[in-house]
Amino acid sequence: MRAFALDRAGSSVEALGLGGASVSADAHVRSPVQYLAGGTTLFDLMKLQVMHPERLVDISGLRAEHGRIADLEDGLWLGALVRMSEAESNPSVARDYPAIRDALWQAASPQLRNMATLGGNVLQRTRCNYFRDISYHACNKRDPGTGCAAMEGCNRRLAVLGTSTACIANYPGDFAIALVALGAEVNLLSVDGRERVLPFEDLHRLPGETPHIETNLARGDLITGFTVPAGAWTRRSRYVKVRDRASYDFALASAAVALDLDGDTVRAVRIGLGGIAAKPWRAHQAEAMLVGRRLDEASARDAAEIALAGAVPHGEAAFKIELGRRTLVRALLETRTMELPA
Ligand code: FAD
Ligand code: SF4
Repeated sequence: MRAFALDRAGSSVEALGLGGASVSADAHVRSPVQYLAGGTTLFDLMKLQVMHPERLVDISGLRAEHGRIADLEDGLWLGALVRMSEAESNPSVARDYPAIRDALWQAASPQLRNMATLGGNVLQRTRCNYFRDISYHACNKRDPGTGCAAMEGCNRRLAVLGTSTACIANYPGDFAIALVALGAEVNLLSVDGRERVLPFEDLHRLPGETPHIETNLARGDLITGFTVPAGAWTRRSRYVKVRDRASYDFALASAAVALDLDGDTVRAVRIGLGGIAAKPWRAHQAEAMLVGRRLDEASARDAAEIALAGAVPHGEAAFKIELGRRTLVRALLETRTMELPA
């Protein structure tokens, strides 16, 4: 790992002053200055020399400002510096937003979840082998314009939805899939001290011709937290994750589902898909088709066909199209019959 300078911020204003102006918008990858939260993604990528910031601004001391979980009148507030393990074991999260709890406890390992923060989690990077191994030259995400080694290479774990001719990497995280399904918002603090709110669905970008630009964050933006709106569907929500190793692995395919039912008929439904897409994916068309229909195996399968209709197979990843459909069918049917927390 290359040498770097470390500054510890005592407040958000200090963090923005120390780092903000130099944290470039595309570069939760390439910028010379990076915010440091739990460090579980950042230090990995620095050791691999994929990222080589000259300076880190440690924001882990800002927990008094951004480390809170709170019940709001109309939803839930999750601070960006809340640790994954804290959110997963919070009683309000477990009772009222079980899809979030499910997504968190199935992610990484207990040790990692004790270090990792929610803000850092949503900004984790793809696990594409060629991105993480700098001995491979061709990676448009790491080095724009060099090509994509995965296109004809080892691509079994990569995306089938939202890919481009420049990059077929998948978004690997779990928590973000629950957030996108539940229509969360992400709260930001800009370098000029302005507070901004983005729909979580708009935080990540599709790769298009610029896969190295992964988010719609502006230069220096600090994520302060997430607001999850309460709805008639949030309590009946689940996250189903399918992976090679059930004990500990990234998703091959996952689905977050939230349902409001009138008997067996769907009043409202929210669907997020993970593991198979270039960014946290909301399946709006499948949701629209289900409203007013009886939820059974046939309608769940119809929804899954619609959700994966735009999927493009690449090499070894082609199996993920059917796996994605089956994961969604299972998530819909399990959510229909789940016991609601008391
Ligand atoms: P950091 O490493 O500190 O930061 C990550 C990035 O976000 C950095 O670029 C940093 O500058 C930026 N950043 C952090 N906080 C902020 C903020 N508030 N505002 C602006 N920018 C910010 N995740 C899953 O979802 N599922 C898994 O199954 C899974 N398995 C894993 C297995 C292993 C072995 C490892 C190492 C990780 C795994 N992860 C998994 C990823 C893990 O959850 C993330 O590494 C972690 O959540 C990142 O959080 P952090 O606080 O450590 O972020
Ligand atoms: Fe790089 Fe994306 Fe291709 Fe992987 S899929 S090698 S991250 S450009």
